[in-house]
Amino acid sequence: MQCLHCDLSEQGHRVRLGEGEGEKQMAICTGCSLLCEDIVASFENGSLKHAKNLCRRGHGHFQAALTERARPMIDGEQAAIDKAIERAAEILKSAKRPLLYGWSHCTLAAQSAGIALAEKLGATTEVTLDGASSFCEGILMEQILSGKIATCTLDDVRNYADTSIFWGSDPSSSHPRHLSRFSYYPRGEKRQRSYEEERTCIAVDVRKSPTALLCSNYYFRLPPGGDAQFIEAVLAVLDGKIPKVADKKKMIELGSLLKKTEWGAIFPGPGLIYSLQDKMDLFEQLLARLNEITSFKVVPMVADCNARGFNELLFEKTGHAGSISFQGGSAAYGAEHSVLAAAKKCDAVLAVGSDPLSDLPIGAARALASQPIIAIDPRRSLTTDAAKVVIPSALTGLEAGGTAVRMDGVKVNFEPIMKSELLTDEQILVRIMEAI
Ligand code: SF4
Repeated sequence: MQCLHCDLSEQGHRVRLGEGEGEKQMAICTGCSLLCEDIVASFENGSLKHAKNLCRRGHGHFQAALTERARPMIDGEQAAIDKAIERAAEILKSAKRPLLYGWSHCTLAAQSAGIALAEKLGATTEVTLDGASSFCEGILMEQILSGKIATCTLDDVRNYADTSIFWGSDPSSSHPRHLSRFSYYPRGEKRQRSYEEERTCIAVDVRKSPTALLCSNYYFRLPPGGDAQFIEAVLAVLDGKIPKVADKKKMIELGSLLKKTEWGAIFPGPGLIYSLQDKMDLFEQLLARLNEITSFKVVPMVADCNARGFNELLFEKTGHAGSISFQGGSAAYGAEHSVLAAAKKCDAVLAVGSDPLSDLPIGAARALASQPIIAIDPRRSLTTDAAKVVIPSALTGLEAGGTAVRMDGVKVNFEPIMKSELLTDEQILVRIMEAI
């Protein structure tokens, strides 16, 4: 079927390029991993003039993307872009333990170029390649990509789900159109009566988030780190036992609701993953039990627009979704190959489309700040301000086209909707690789 907004292909949606400045045109929003493709926007004098279907987060993303642009710099001085690329290549070439970090705002083509660069450097050095997902949804993503956890698309959720569980996640804040496009409000093939009669949403969280407020009676407040105990209580009620929790009645009601569910979806966020840490097998146990009774799928609440794409590419290449080192032509995986471990021993950092000095724990950020940083980024950030070399790139989704992977694994293609003289992340990485 032809999409109303674009030329639908088997790989996903391809949005048509508009005719020019000031005209309304179809756009993809890269403000979060929902990659909403029904945005109508127009730009004038480099700023957003009109926007339809853009949520408040997307609006902020489009506005912020066009201000505070990075400039090519070497050692704090403005420089020509060619010189900045040359200097970046020299730094990486002379490093013995470089860290290549970020990637979640890049297209698949740029991520592939990054993996190729890591492999090339890894022939003679020890290179760590990692993204922010390695200490949050990457753990779950690896289980999904290896087939240990059942997943589905968000279109399946819209069509079939009668129960949605937001666990340690708050899509109303992080992915504002999640509930309206997929998980609660829309009518679907088998859910014509939708949220009014047919859908129930449950929130499990340490705070009463905006999403938890919507779930009213089905909000379960946990103490920090209380997820393992909560899972044990759910397992107990599913087996007809009395749960070891204060509000036994509410937990038994939850057990009945889960048993009556025809098609359920769980959307885990960082809250669940940080809380369970090395007890993720408990979550797998719960899913296995739920799927003995009914059908439950998992779609992790991936934050950034193409974080899943990076996980998928790395998994195809190495069998793991993150925390990889390349050395002497082979790859190694594990916590000792993660960004947090690399921060303590790396001697150069390439940060692409990310701001590790703001995002990482303070100890790791401080360690990185003491090393020469090369930042490839369209925007100015704490990391670009501290970097030895800054290479500005075209904005993914606005000035640079390509493909990204939505949080549920659906590929979305897009073309640039604004003209830019800047190189794309991919072009910069290829040029660095050539210079090395
Ligand atoms: S939900 Fe995400 S992708 Fe959709 S418009 Fe909002 S920020 Fe953009």
